[in-house]
Amino acid sequence: MTTISSVIRTHAAERPDAVALVCGAQSLTWAELHARSNRVADALRRVGVGFGDRVAFLDKNGLEYFELLFATAKLGAVLVAVNFRLTAREVGFIVNDAEARVFVVGAEFLPLAAELAGALETVHTLLVIGGDAAQPSYAAWRDGGADVDPDVTIRGSDVAFQFYSSGTTGDPKGVLLSHDNVFGLLPTSSQKWGVDAGSVNLIALPLFHVGGGGWAMVGMFHGCKSVVVRDVDPTGLIRVIGEHRISHAFLVPVLLHFMQQVPAAATGDFSSLELIVYGASPISESVLAGAVRRMGCKFAQAYGLTETTGAIVTLPPEDHDPQGPHRHRLRAAGKPHDGVELKIVAPDSGAEMPVGVPGEIWTRSQQNMVGYWRNAEGTAAAINVDGWLRTGDIGYFDDDGYVYIHDRVKDMIISGGENIYPAEVENILMKHPAVADAAVIGVPSDVWGESPFAVVVARPGATVDPQELQAFARQHLAKFKVPVGVSVVAALPRTPTGKLLKRELRAPFWHGRER
Ligand code: ATP
Ligand code: MG
Repeated sequence: MTTISSVIRTHAAERPDAVALVCGAQSLTWAELHARSNRVADALRRVGVGFGDRVAFLDKNGLEYFELLFATAKLGAVLVAVNFRLTAREVGFIVNDAEARVFVVGAEFLPLAAELAGALETVHTLLVIGGDAAQPSYAAWRDGGADVDPDVTIRGSDVAFQFYSSGTTGDPKGVLLSHDNVFGLLPTSSQKWGVDAGSVNLIALPLFHVGGGGWAMVGMFHGCKSVVVRDVDPTGLIRVIGEHRISHAFLVPVLLHFMQQVPAAATGDFSSLELIVYGASPISESVLAGAVRRMGCKFAQAYGLTETTGAIVTLPPEDHDPQGPHRHRLRAAGKPHDGVELKIVAPDSGAEMPVGVPGEIWTRSQQNMVGYWRNAEGTAAAINVDGWLRTGDIGYFDDDGYVYIHDRVKDMIISGGENIYPAEVENILMKHPAVADAAVIGVPSDVWGESPFAVVVARPGATVDPQELQAFARQHLAKFKVPVGVSVVAALPRTPTGKLLKRELRAPFWHGRER
């Protein structure tokens, strides 16, 4: 059985002097990471942290995250990494919700922590990474701990991670993932990705999200070198890929889009890349085709949720040939991993839908979360008595068993009794030469209940004429699917992992009304 703490013990014993982590100018071997996490564990124990206690972490990606992750895991405690893009109020909500005892904050987030000072209900120890002499130093506190492995017995069913979901559809939820959730299917699924001890793994997504933190575990499990990026920008990422000879990476569609737009795209050295896994939000066909052309490596799509410990569906590299006989599959999310069950059902009755007909995606596997933290009602609503988890996503199967993701149930528009899938309308709008990005939302309509409305971003140097865009949509779509209005904005609101925040776009239209 594999647990987070067994991973570090194994590699520290088998490859003590191999580099485990690199971040900027800093690096740690497996032996150093093991020793540092022992010291942190001892320091945590001295301030009263034990089995089941929560430690909150608010900083950009860095080595300290891994020291704390392995330290808490060795104690059976749980690290809660908080989204650093949130406001003070939202951070406070998560730290209090998690009932964190210790709060480790990066110096650049001290002003935010100061705003919170009176509002934290359970935190008794605050530590600062990289602060000045006036602040309680994380590094000094860590180095005061003893390098002794606490050797606490951990079971596979114990909680390994508490990730907060992205908050795309409401307040973020504390998702509890066990060691079995994380490592149960990982050996087979990562085989597909070809990660092994000789790989060089890029960790560019935020570690507070399952996309970053979960992907990091793939490299950690195999004992390869991981390169952690603190400040993510497209040009910097291209440089890191060349400099560190990155072989594997998990990236999101917005990043793949911008990595093609910058001048470095033409000069970057992508020759070390073996595979890029992408996912977390829908990818447009043009972004994917451009990335395949530009980077020249293998690509695989991943679909999953925080509640499913990340990827449960993969579109493998062999389905990524834009000229191949299966090129229609480039619009699919892929096939369920071995050991993952997926079905498409009518959300209200749970009845299974025939091939080709969209419905809600339900899944059952070893990767289904333990539950939501302190939210039995939410857990019962998410996972039924037979163990099926409702994803809240709409999709359908094709004849070959590939699943296509349409939209979220909450984003579907019902207009005069007809279902409108925003993704279908967005795909058409994106085909217009003046449109760089598009979101379609439901807005109130006295006649139809709601009607589709488009919010679009123009390509650099281009102008979007709303009426002309509507006329364009009319050529390709049934009349009821054509947006009743178009507004042009500079950028669409997204989460740090590139998820479109449609509820923010909807809010001004639905002010004071029920949707
Ligand atoms: P919240 O549950 O808090 O509202 P969230 O659902 O965005 O937020 P996550 O768990 O981070 O939080 O994201 C899971 C969702 O991301 C999925 O339900 C799906 O809508 C979307 N997603 C993930 N992978 C893909 C993919 N390959 N293609 C399309 N959508 C994807
Ligand atoms: Mg969700």
